[in-house]
Amino acid sequence: PSFEDFKLNKQLLSAIAEAGFEKPTPIQQQAIPLALAGQDILGIAQTGTGKTAAYLLPLLMKVKYAQGQNPRALIIAPTRELAMQIEEHIGLLAKHTDLRFAAIYGGLGPKTQIEIIGNGLDILVATPKRLMELYLKGDLVLKELKTLILDEADKMMDMGFMPQIRQILEVIPRKRQNLLFSATMPDKVTTLSEEFLEFPVRVEV
Ligand code: AMP
Repeated sequence: PSFEDFKLNKQLLSAIAEAGFEKPTPIQQQAIPLALAGQDILGIAQTGTGKTAAYLLPLLMKVKYAQGQNPRALIIAPTRELAMQIEEHIGLLAKHTDLRFAAIYGGLGPKTQIEIIGNGLDILVATPKRLMELYLKGDLVLKELKTLILDEADKMMDMGFMPQIRQILEVIPRKRQNLLFSATMPDKVTTLSEEFLEFPVRVEV
């Protein structure tokens, strides 16, 4: 299989080629068609398998670019490092589009943060605590979300972020697509996936 086999647009196919991705990795082969079809996904994959592009490419096909003020997609990552890596990866794949995206995490100055959000966003990447703080302050509107992605869910549970994730789930629209990626499936992640995903398809590499 090749990237051309998925229904990706020209902007994405060019960015993929320029990134040097020759063919989809196994997790991408499995997850991309399912995510494009609107399925919830439970993805079990380690870092290094291409899991980030596996969820980003379908998202970048579906999300509307440069539209409105509030994010339509939210990616939650356990650490600032991962949030920054995801932000970079979006930059790589969305370079030929006018997508507005940003990552917010602990340590980012309040001014910078308000500016980022104030300028309008299509996709927001965030760490759980900072996300909830901003939401509770009223600085972030999450009612337009259509896609929610949790990356490294096992690490999020290890770091004790279940309460924040549950809070977020309570305040976002019910009707949405959910993708959960985790390197391992301990009981806490199974519980989370049961609360969070609707009739998920499990993909594993
Ligand atoms: P990840 O597992 O998402 O952390 O990705 C690991 C690395 O693989 C990143 O540096 C990606 O840029 C790269 N990558 C992702 N998909 C592909 C692909 N299909 N072919 C080659 N490299 C890829």
